[in-house]
Amino acid sequence: MSSAPRAHELGVIGCHGCGLVCEHPPDDLTHRHCPRCQAPLHRRRPDSITRTWALLVAALILYIPANLLPVMYTSMFGKVSESTIMVGVIEFWKAGSYGIALVIFIASVAVPCTKFLILGLLLVTAQRRSNWAVRERARLYRLVELVGYWSMLDVLVVAVVAALVKFQKLSDVEPRIGILFFGVVVILTMLSAMSFDPRLTWDTEKE
Ligand SMILES: [Zn+2]
Repeated sequence: MSSAPRAHELGVIGCHGCGLVCEHPPDDLTHRHCPRCQAPLHRRRPDSITRTWALLVAALILYIPANLLPVMYTSMFGKVSESTIMVGVIEFWKAGSYGIALVIFIASVAVPCTKFLILGLLLVTAQRRSNWAVRERARLYRLVELVGYWSMLDVLVVAVVAALVKFQKLSDVEPRIGILFFGVVVILTMLSAMSFDPRLTWDTEKE
C-alpha cells in the first residue's frame, strides 16, 4: 500500500536511542554505533518478537493472581474485609463512589486488557508480515507507548484511597499482596511494549 521508500532502501538507519538518522551501506554487516549517543545501531531490534512474546505471556500469567488475590484490606465501620480488584470496584460502586469505581476499573481491567490485545495483534500481524492496516497498527503502537505512562494509576488509587480513609478516621486500609502482582504486570507489559520494534510493522514483503 505504501509507496514511500524504506530506510534500508535509502541506505540509512534510525538510532532508537536518540533518533539520529545515520548512513548505513546495505552490505555493511559490522556492528555500528550511533555517532551521537553511542547506542548500537540495528536495522531491526534483535529477537524483538520472541522477547515481546515472552514478556507479554509472563504478564498475562501474573494478571491471574493479580485479579484473584486481595489487593486491599479494609476495616470500615467495624466491618473487616479483604477485597480483590473486582470486588473493590463493585463495593465502591454500591457505596455510590462511582468516580473511584470507574478509575479503578479503567486502570486495572480496561487498560491492561486493551494493551494485551493490541500487543498480541501487533505481534501476530508482524510475524505474518501482514500488510493489513499498516498505518493504523503503527498508530496503535504509539497509543500503547503513551498509555504506559498512566498504568501505575491503579497502584496510585490504592494509595489515595488509603490516605482518604485514614483521613476520615473511620477505618483502616492496607494494601495486600495482589497489588504487588499488579505492579509486576504493569512493568512486564511496559517492557513487552518496549521490546517490540515498531519498524517490524512495515516489513510487509514476504521473504
Ligand atoms: Zn543515537
